[in-house]
Amino acid sequence: MDGPLDVVIIGAGINGAAVCQTLAAQGYRVLLVDQGDFGSGTSQASTMLIWGGLLYLKNLELATVLALTRDRDRLVAERPGSVQARPLLYVPSGGPPRVVVESALAAYWVMGAGKRARPQRLDRYAEQAHLAAAGPAYAIEEAALVTSDARFVLEWVLAAERLGADVRNHVRVDAIDAGGSAAGWRLQLCDTLTGSVTDVQARMVVNAAGCWTDAVNDKAGLTSPWRHVFSRGVSLAFPRPAWHTRHLVLDSLEGDVMTLAPWGPVSLWGSTDTLRDDLAEARRPADADVARLLRELNRHLRVPVDRSDVVSLRTGVRPVPVRHDARAPRTPASLTRHHRLHLDATRPWVSIYGGKLSGCLGLAADVRELVAQRISPRGAAPWPHPPRDEAPQVTTTFPTLEAPVVSAAWAAAHEHCTSLDDYLRRRTNIAQWVPCGGFGARGVHAGTLERIALEIHDGDTGLAERDLRAYWHQVCETDAVLAQARRPDTPADTIGWRWS
Ligand SMILES: Cc1cc2nc3c(=O)[nH]c(=O)nc-3n(C[C@H](O)[C@H](O)[C@H](O)COP(=O)(O)OP(=O)(O)OC[C@H]3O[C@@H](n4cnc5c(N)ncnc54)[C@H](O)[C@@H]3O)c2cc1C
Repeated sequence: MDGPLDVVIIGAGINGAAVCQTLAAQGYRVLLVDQGDFGSGTSQASTMLIWGGLLYLKNLELATVLALTRDRDRLVAERPGSVQARPLLYVPSGGPPRVVVESALAAYWVMGAGKRARPQRLDRYAEQAHLAAAGPAYAIEEAALVTSDARFVLEWVLAAERLGADVRNHVRVDAIDAGGSAAGWRLQLCDTLTGSVTDVQARMVVNAAGCWTDAVNDKAGLTSPWRHVFSRGVSLAFPRPAWHTRHLVLDSLEGDVMTLAPWGPVSLWGSTDTLRDDLAEARRPADADVARLLRELNRHLRVPVDRSDVVSLRTGVRPVPVRHDARAPRTPASLTRHHRLHLDATRPWVSIYGGKLSGCLGLAADVRELVAQRISPRGAAPWPHPPRDEAPQVTTTFPTLEAPVVSAAWAAAHEHCTSLDDYLRRRTNIAQWVPCGGFGARGVHAGTLERIALEIHDGDTGLAERDLRAYWHQVCETDAVLAQARRPDTPADTIGWRWS
């Protein structure tokens, strides 16, 4: 890489991706790296709502609600292909009294400057026949991502690349050194696919590593007034009944709400919100999460959903900011969900704490202001990393899915897709929409996955086999908390390879 960069951004979740695009548009020379795929952290496991934070009114977080409603409405207006207004149906069942609900909804609508449809009480609605003991509901207009959260992140990344940013997935920042570097920082990058190691120099660093923000700051020897606590959020997907076409928001036994979201061929139900001290533990869904989700869901549905109906699980860890010296919180609901930023007093380094998909515009603008306090852009793109060709997207079909999906060869050539996991989980929703991560029950689609692996690896059978095998092991591990019936059988017979 020639000469020092302006900014290295560590972490390509929604925060890093939105910051990257914003800085690249200002003329900064930016490198964005992620140790995994783009959007492979928390940003692939959300409920995919772009909302104004109605629930935060409970804690009187008025500034957060004002900022989120503004960002929501801008995203709807400026990114119609990715974010669309959607009616949510809140069906109260033992939650707050009616007067509280209606006052909160009225205040929320006013705080959103009346840009969305006015909340409406409905005595009759189509979903009622399928819900147990459903009384009147409230229609609230929010917004939702059209394809997925991971693709939303990718869109920001590719837009940044078109502006000249250098964007690299599967590249981990291993070591960070401030001493002796006139440029500001020297970072050691490890390509996690090839193992090759390179150094880069940058005038400034933005730490957007989500749950790993504190660990990255430790590597740089930096401290901050903030730290993260972790809350595990698990959702489950099951085949979508024909009647389920709108987002339903339903009360939970713990005094919170959960969402039943229509998402292609599945209904997505969740999420849990459980504080965990240990990040590794927070990232692993537990049997108790699945049991709780089914218990909560079946309280509301007339036709119950069984464990064997579950197509997939989504598990994400919310990085929630607290003051560094704060005592361990007892409930996640008591914690602010407003992002916090810290510009180091002496070093050119910004750390991001918290942040939501819904608030990515505001967060990116705030980070841009902090960066501008220390360094100015040195000129306009193009930088030495020209954007890829803008060819029209090529689509294909996948068994059992009605909607077309981007082809693996196209995703590999144009979207930095390097593996089956990248393709099935984040370039498409196949891993979440088809049982057993896309293998299908009893490995019925193993042959299709083999063909996809060959496309991604340009016909290299050795690489394709290794990828398929690794992906299969990963699916078994991810689905371990589901019933054995949902796990893929070893597809050795189907595709004729040797399996250990
Ligand atoms: C269950 C659940 C539901 C949610 N629902 C919503 C919702 O409906 N709407 C909403 O707005 N928000 C929602 N959120 C919140 C939102 O998803 C997260 O706050 C957001 O995705 C966090 O993004 P991030 O960029 O901070 O973190 P991440 O997406 O985790 O990105 C951080 C990245 O840093 C990378 N990284 C870490 N260390 C290194 C290193 N050393 N080198 C290189 N890369 C590194 C990681 O690989 C990771 O990809 C939800 C969250 C959860 C868990």
